[in-house]
Amino acid sequence: MLEALLTDDDRRFRAEVRAFARDAVAPELRRRVADGAELSKQDYVEWQKLLSQRGWLTTTWTEHDGGVNWSPVRHYLFEEELALADCPPVGLTLGVGAKLLGPILCEHGSAEQKQRLLPPIRDCSVWWCQGYSEPGAGSDLASLATRAVRDGDDYVLTGTKIWTSYAHWADGMCCLARTDRDPETRPQAGISFLLVDMHAPGVTVRPIPTINRRHFFNQVFFDAVRVPVGNRIGAENDGWRIAKSLLLHERLAAARVAETTKRLKLARAIARVALFHGKPLLEHDWFRMQLAALEIQARAIEQTALRYLGETMAGTPPGPEIALLKLRGTELYQKIYDLLCDAIGEESIPLKRLKTGDADIPGYWQTLNANRLYARGFTVAAGSSEVQREILAKSLLGGQRAS
Ligand SMILES: Cc1cc2nc3c(=O)[nH]c(=O)nc-3n(C[C@H](O)[C@H](O)[C@H](O)COP(=O)(O)OP(=O)(O)OC[C@H]3O[C@@H](n4cnc5c(N)ncnc54)[C@H](O)[C@@H]3O)c2cc1C
Repeated sequence: MLEALLTDDDRRFRAEVRAFARDAVAPELRRRVADGAELSKQDYVEWQKLLSQRGWLTTTWTEHDGGVNWSPVRHYLFEEELALADCPPVGLTLGVGAKLLGPILCEHGSAEQKQRLLPPIRDCSVWWCQGYSEPGAGSDLASLATRAVRDGDDYVLTGTKIWTSYAHWADGMCCLARTDRDPETRPQAGISFLLVDMHAPGVTVRPIPTINRRHFFNQVFFDAVRVPVGNRIGAENDGWRIAKSLLLHERLAAARVAETTKRLKLARAIARVALFHGKPLLEHDWFRMQLAALEIQARAIEQTALRYLGETMAGTPPGPEIALLKLRGTELYQKIYDLLCDAIGEESIPLKRLKTGDADIPGYWQTLNANRLYARGFTVAAGSSEVQREILAKSLLGGQRAS
């Protein structure tokens, strides 16, 4: 179906992105991405700089502010080509500046804020993190309790944020804080969107160890941190609307269609060489059927994503039903990891290596279990599966609009 949507210009564009992806990433870095290895901040920054030089880091910004005028199909092709070529991901946690704050500034920032804040995002000199969740506010984000109290030209920020990905790398945080504590006000109506200097006095970042033994989560504490009023995006108490303005894009990205395709290819490659009772797994019907079932689900998700893109191109972007993609995409992603681990069995214990000598299969098995455990979080991040189901039930079955 994708092919049917493409014009000759789209095909030329795809070839251009493919050539760039092939040539721009150093083979050693590409290998580590293919292996699912942990990358450093420097790896990500260098890759984002390369994208930026090409004008491709800020693709979702308004064209006037440095974005591109691509059709949704081109955005899709772009993401797919980079993922299939094993380029470092620039997702919402690893590209908060370019993918989250940049578009928010384009839409809601003042002229002064755009001039001051967009260039360091574009040249990757400032790294941003996202401070929405709190120990008592995740799915029910509107109950957040971090307080910002006005004091002259500053807010004084007190509270804590949790699960803040890569806060230990960050120079700044996009932070939701309560600026109106009147119990009569709707909780959503008393929140402001603030930009916090992570190097300011009173900010403490404490790592949260994860089961896959990588450091990406943190808890961040604010002890009377001063935030200039000029670092508030939009009006006071209007932060909720601003924070949610990217939700649709976020859920489309969260479906991870290209990443899924890539991992299914890996599962096939492994199944060609991993032996069970002396025969490659791919020659066993029971394994082939499991793989085929996941491949069919992947194609269904791809078709749904393309249908939504087609509707967007025709001027009617999908509404809350896009939660379907997030729900199905992330659940499928986890099932593929389960199948991959089943396929290599005890070899997924990092101390062992699959002795295949097959050059098509990267050293993925060494990190497979760590990445499988990481993928467990995908059905929680950006709105859990239960929350997506609730949105679907309310908006599609109950006749209400929810988000
Ligand atoms: C990989 C990863 C990266 C993340 N990065 C960031 C980040 O950079 N910045 C940030 O701010 N946050 C981040 N988060 C946090 C994420 O946004 C929250 O984990 C998420 O919103 C869920 O909130 P919670 O963890 O408080 O769980 P809860 O909201 O406490 O949910 C616990 C369980 O209850 C269920 N539940 C909750 N409400 C309902 C309901 N109404 N109906 C049915 N079931 C319900 C949930 O589905 C879940 O299973 C990240 C999370 C993950 C996993």
